[in-house]
Formats: sequence, structure tokens, C-alpha cells
Amino acid sequence: MEESLNFVEEIVEEDIRNPVYREGIATRFPPEPNGYLHLGHAKSICLNFGLASKYNGKVNLRFDDTNPERENSSYIEAIKEDIRWLGYEWHNEYYASDYFEALYGFAVELIKRGIAYVDDSTSEEIAEQKGTPQIPGTTNQYRERSVDENLQLLEAMKLGQFRDGEKVLRAKIDMAASNMHMRDPIMYRVKHTPHHRTGSTWCIYPMYDFAHGQSDAIEHITHSTCTLEFVAHRPLYNWFIQQLGLFPSKQIEFARLNLAYTIMSKRKLQQLVDNGLVDGWDDPRLPTIAGLRRRGYTPNAIRKFCDRIGVAKRDAITDFGLLEFCVREDLNQSAQRRIAVLKPLKVIITNYDEEKTEYMSMENLPGDEANGSRKVPFGKELWIEQDDFMEHAAKNYFRLTLGGAVRLKGAYIISCEHIMKDEHGNIIELQCRYFPESKSGNDRSNIKVKSTIHWLSVPSAIPAEVRLYDRLFSVEDPGKTENDFLSHFNKHSIQVLQNAYVEADLAERDNAGVHFQFVRLGYFIKDTHSDVDHLVFNRTVDLKERWKK
Ligand code: ATP
Ligand code: MG
Ligand code: MG
Repeated sequence: MEESLNFVEEIVEEDIRNPVYREGIATRFPPEPNGYLHLGHAKSICLNFGLASKYNGKVNLRFDDTNPERENSSYIEAIKEDIRWLGYEWHNEYYASDYFEALYGFAVELIKRGIAYVDDSTSEEIAEQKGTPQIPGTTNQYRERSVDENLQLLEAMKLGQFRDGEKVLRAKIDMAASNMHMRDPIMYRVKHTPHHRTGSTWCIYPMYDFAHGQSDAIEHITHSTCTLEFVAHRPLYNWFIQQLGLFPSKQIEFARLNLAYTIMSKRKLQQLVDNGLVDGWDDPRLPTIAGLRRRGYTPNAIRKFCDRIGVAKRDAITDFGLLEFCVREDLNQSAQRRIAVLKPLKVIITNYDEEKTEYMSMENLPGDEANGSRKVPFGKELWIEQDDFMEHAAKNYFRLTLGGAVRLKGAYIISCEHIMKDEHGNIIELQCRYFPESKSGNDRSNIKVKSTIHWLSVPSAIPAEVRLYDRLFSVEDPGKTENDFLSHFNKHSIQVLQNAYVEADLAERDNAGVHFQFVRLGYFIKDTHSDVDHLVFNRTVDLKERWKK
């Protein structure tokens, strides 16, 4: 079967025949260090690292650090950790700030060629003079400044002789261009803000459009991918490269990833963190890589997800169910099974010997002998789920009821004979009988039951806190409205169960980072803040398949 190519791969396959690319292809992943990476970035990472590995090329990690006030070094370390965790290693690590000197040189060159000028207008005046898509912009007197004056002013800007916003450097292109980005775009602005790498060396900083393409060209990036919002920036990207006679890097735009019921913007994620609505950038509800890792997602599941959504030229909203499908598919094959009881209800087996403990053998991974089996203790006092008992059966309820019977997974059939209630009428204990002939694997009882439930023996069970998660927002596209997206935050996005119980071996410390399937409940992982005195598990995903293949 011939594998189909995505449109970026088609462009690359066409290009590698061109002698310009004889050095091989080179891509880059250019995060701005102003927050943590999210799933949208994972899509871009999979695309860029995927292209490089498929076509034997290189991929650079380039920190796009041209906005000093929003960036800091802690984000740099977190970003590197996340990329490595996803399973990728870059060839070179660069910073746009490494090119501040080179970019300044390019600016001087454009001034000397008469195609850049220093403008004293305020940002309001510049916006006003820019016109609208229907109305051509107007030029001002600064546009006609001499080369010498422009050179002196740029140097004075660099030396700190002007206040923030007092002057900008602009490219002299065309104030009537139909593309607004070509109406004398700003190249440099004055900003007396120290930079996390260059300190106070610079007080002028290049704009994205003046930094990105040239950085690509300096690194000989052949294919520079970005999201669709940058389509209109492409003529400018090409203009700077052509005017400066640099390596012909090529910008290619693809559709950004949008996921239903969540947001995919660092700036908005930052607001959730700052407002204390979530527990930091790695809150398990967030679509950040760190959050997904803490939630129990695997790198493999995320890569598979990126592969399945593909790379297209049209924006869409992806169903969360696809992500869940990918992680279930991955964990189903690798996560050992254990038992947990989330909302415990006590069962006393009246006809079982108080002194006795039996050990029930359970496979760790059904159908995979290499993972072995374990012995789960069974005794007179058990925990079952409150949800697995109903005093009077509702329609289609086949689990335990008063007078009814059910199988305890891997153990015996029991029937419920009495219910103990507290003074408020809440059920606090069930008194049941077991059928000694009905032991799993050797059932001679002839009793038919319709359902099997899970259980733990009271003396062996270890208390734990279990956290269940739901969608982060209550509307499908919370990012659509700019300001009130916080009002759609789902207050029920986390459910904390304080009184859960788990199998004893889950308390072992070396289970950190290990994925488990809690039988009938879903996939779980120990939380990063869990400790021996207070075990905490996060549910990665439940077992219900909602995604239609
Ligand atoms: P944000 O709005 O979250 O800050 P950004 O585009 O400003 O996103 P960058 O750090 O500049 O974030 O992004 C690094 C790379 O990741 C860019 O090439 C960008 O196009 C890509 N990227 C960011 N968000 C998405 C997304 N949702 N889908 C696909 N690619 C994305
Ligand atoms: Mg960006
Ligand atoms: Mg951004």
C-alpha cells in the first residue's frame, strides 16, 4: 500500500530535486519561551521533526525570544523537557536573540539602500496613516529622511537616546499595497526592558516579521512551517529575504490544531494559571504537554494523535474523543491491571471464616503471560463500589441488589441478604453469602449471574485519593470569544474522591510514572504530588469508547 503524503511532504518531495536544496532539508521548531507547550505545539513538533527524519534532514530548536517582557528562562527548560519527553531530539539549539547583531546589520543595510526609515509618529498616527484594506494608506514626512539621518537615528535608538515608543524603524515598501502587512511594516521598536539572555545590551528589539524569516535564512532552514494566520505575512517574509539576498527559506502555512472544549493559546492558559482556576501549567486538565503527562497520557498516544489528525490547509475543531481513543489504544496493550474501589461500600460475607484469607490469582495483563500474575487477598470483609449495589433493581440493572447475586471478579458468586443503614437511611454495609462451589476457574455451583463486579479485601486495601477529570470548559469553542472565555470554565472539571482504596502494591514508590488500568474504571497514573502517606491517582481516561473509527 502506498502511503499518502500530506501537502507539506508533497512540497518537500518536489523541492528535494531542486539543486538549491542539495545540502538536504532543514526544518525548525520555533517556540516563544512565554509559556508551556500544548498539543498544538505537539502537532508542529511532530510535523517538523517528522519531516526531518523522513527526508534525512535536520531540525533546529529555535527559541523565538524577541519579546523580552513576556519571556523567561524557566520556560526554556520546560519546553526542552517536553520535546524530549515526546521522543524528539533537535540537532542545534538556537535563539533568535543570537541574531540581534546580525539583524541590526540587516537593518543598516536596508537603510543604506534607501528602503528603511526611522519614523517619529506615535503608534496611533501610524495606525491612522496605514488606512484600511479598502483605503490606501498615506505617507508622512519621515519617509523622505536621508540615508545619513536614518543611520544616525537608528544608532541613537540603539544607544538608548529615545524613550519607548518614541521612534520606530520601518521598511519603505508601499503604503497603498493591498496586503496591509506590506504598508511600511515596523522592523524595530524601542523597548527599555532587559532581556533574559542579552540583559540590557539592547533597548531596541526586532518585530516578529523582521526576525523570523532572517533567522530561518541564517540557519539555512529550507521549509519553515507556521499556522494559517501567517499566510498574509508571507510576501513580507519573502521581501526581506530577497532584498537582503539571503538563503531562500520557504514559509509554508498549515491549519492550527483546535480541540473541542479546551483552549490552545499560551496567553489564555496563562490566565487560567494566574487566576488560580487550575493547579499550575501541569494541571492534568490542561492540554499542555506537562498537564497531559501528569494526567497519564503517553508520548506514543500524542504522536499517534498528531499522525491521525494529519496536516491540512483548512482550520477545524478536533474532537477530544480522538485523543482519548489514541491513549486507550496505547495503554490497553501495556498498562497492567489492578483493582481500585473509588466509592467504597462494605460487604460482610456472613458465611466466610473470619480467620481465613484466600489469595486469588489475577493476570496482570490478560492474554500476555510475560506480564505474569499476582495474588489478591480475599476475606470476610470486602469493599465494593457503591454504584455496584442498588437496593431495588432499576430496569436493566444487573449488578448486586437486595436478594440478587453477582460474581466477584476472579473470586466467588455472592448474594445480598441484609442491608445495614445509618440513622439517615444511607446504606453503610451489606450482609452477603458466598457460594463456596462457585470459585472462578472451578465453578460447580450452576448459579447464573448477569454481572461481575470488582472488590478489595478490607484489611489489604490501601487508602488513596483518586481524581477524576472532565472537560475544561462547558462550551465547544471557548476561545471564540476573547474576553469572557473564563466564564465558561467548567467548575466540575475535577472530582476528588478522598475515600478510595487501591491494591496494596500500588503504594510502592517505584510505581511513579507507571500506567495502570483500574479494572472497570479506566486508566490511571500516580500524581506527581502523591507520596507514601497520601497516595493520589489521576484518571487519564475512562474505558468507554466514544470515538467512531
Ligand atoms: P500561542 O498562541 O499558544 O502562544 P504561538 O503560535 O504564539 O501559540 P509559538 O511558541 O510561537 O506559539 O509556537 C511555536 C510553533 O508552534 C509555531 O511554529 C506555531 O505555528 C506552532 N503552533 C502553535 N500553536 C499551534 C496550534 N494550535 N496548532 C499547530 N501549530 C501550532
Ligand atoms: Mg508565535
Ligand atoms: Mg503566542
